[in-house]
Amino acid sequence: MFIVTSQSAQSPWMNDDLRMYRKTVRQFIQEKFAPHHARWCQQHRPDPEAWTEAGATGILLPDLPEEYGGGGTFAHQAVALEELAQAGINFGSLVHSIVAHYIFAYGTLEQKRKWLPPMARGELVGAIAMTEPAAGSDLQGIKTTARRDGNHYVINGSKTFITNGMLGNIICLAVKTDPKAAGFKGMSLIIVETRNLPGYRVGRSLEKIGRHAQDTCELFFDDVRVPASNLLGATEGKGFSQMMEQLPYERLAISVGAITTAEQAVAITTQYVKERMAFGKPLLDFQNTRFKLAECKTETRIGRVFVDDCIERFLAGQLDPVTAAMAKYWLTDCECRVIDECVQLHGGYGYMTEYPIARMWADSRVERIYAGTNEIMKEVIGWSL
Ligand SMILES: Cc1cc2nc3c(=O)[nH]c(=O)nc-3n(C[C@H](O)[C@H](O)[C@H](O)COP(=O)(O)OP(=O)(O)OC[C@H]3O[C@@H](n4cnc5c(N)ncnc54)[C@H](O)[C@@H]3O)c2cc1C
Repeated sequence: MFIVTSQSAQSPWMNDDLRMYRKTVRQFIQEKFAPHHARWCQQHRPDPEAWTEAGATGILLPDLPEEYGGGGTFAHQAVALEELAQAGINFGSLVHSIVAHYIFAYGTLEQKRKWLPPMARGELVGAIAMTEPAAGSDLQGIKTTARRDGNHYVINGSKTFITNGMLGNIICLAVKTDPKAAGFKGMSLIIVETRNLPGYRVGRSLEKIGRHAQDTCELFFDDVRVPASNLLGATEGKGFSQMMEQLPYERLAISVGAITTAEQAVAITTQYVKERMAFGKPLLDFQNTRFKLAECKTETRIGRVFVDDCIERFLAGQLDPVTAAMAKYWLTDCECRVIDECVQLHGGYGYMTEYPIARMWADSRVERIYAGTNEIMKEVIGWSL
């Protein structure tokens, strides 16, 4: 594991409490996650105990109120995401946190008390299931239905590409509660607890080009009955507006990981080109190497300033969806550009998976695709013009 001090050490939102928290998270990752990560990659999922251990260390839902197992702010979440990104660990704590934030924002007091504390302890693992085989960007095309039947909903359909799909046992599920309603109007979010749930089935862990330690699966629902009280929000049909309200959180969180990974790529490549010799001198002595790394370092510095601004806005409750879309699009594009240049500077070794830069290259590519593709981000920004 290669660790450099994150550039956020100088960020305006950083303070002593967060520095202490970073120390705890870093030590936990080094001791409990890093030694097992290669095995997690082979088995395509973390060990289940990783979740409860992370919960016991206070890493899972740091930005919820203390009564629900948190006690910090988004800045704590950002620190945890940075530490995972720096260590190159694929762990679905962001998705888990997103589910918790849906429950926190739209759940009743009873729902929050029931689900959030066990989620903070890692006893319940969250997954968010929106995407379907025929509906990704175009979410209004989802076909999964939840039909009201007395005190229950009866759910039929399937989801794909679901992070934490294998280990997840509390799912925030996007459904059509009114399949006849036009567009997004009939969409709702329902919480599904999957332990011993008749009609619920998880498909195999999908083979990805990167992020091998994360369990990404298909989910199947065949006449699955869940209590009607598991609907998020007071009435049906609010699913789309709930998603639109929560997406800035997810997009900012992805941006934090993206810029941290890009910074890490520049750091490890700088070290590599100082040590690797060609034509009798270190690679860093070639002007092309210095210029490429100068460009990468400048881009990551710009990205860090932008992320810091977004974090401060979010902490003040002022991060708007358009700025969040800008951050997700620009920072994940920046991450991939920078890492690709760094792979080039590693030569053939940059293509070998035993080198961290190769794994970063494969792991980062999906950031431009999930949580809304970067093309959809540009649409969101475009609507504001
Ligand atoms: C590793 C991984 C993990 C994921 N985790 C989750 C998860 O936990 N939960 C979940 O619900 N989903 C998850 N996803 C799904 C992800 O969010 C979708 O793949 C993504 O939203 C894109 O949808 P799609 O794959 O159907 O692509 P499509 O929507 O078919 O898009 C294909 C291409 O067309 C472009 N396109 C589509 N519409 C437009 C438009 N209007 N204008 C311009 N271009 C357009 C897209 O940008 C893209 O380039 C995950 C995906 C991956 C790969």
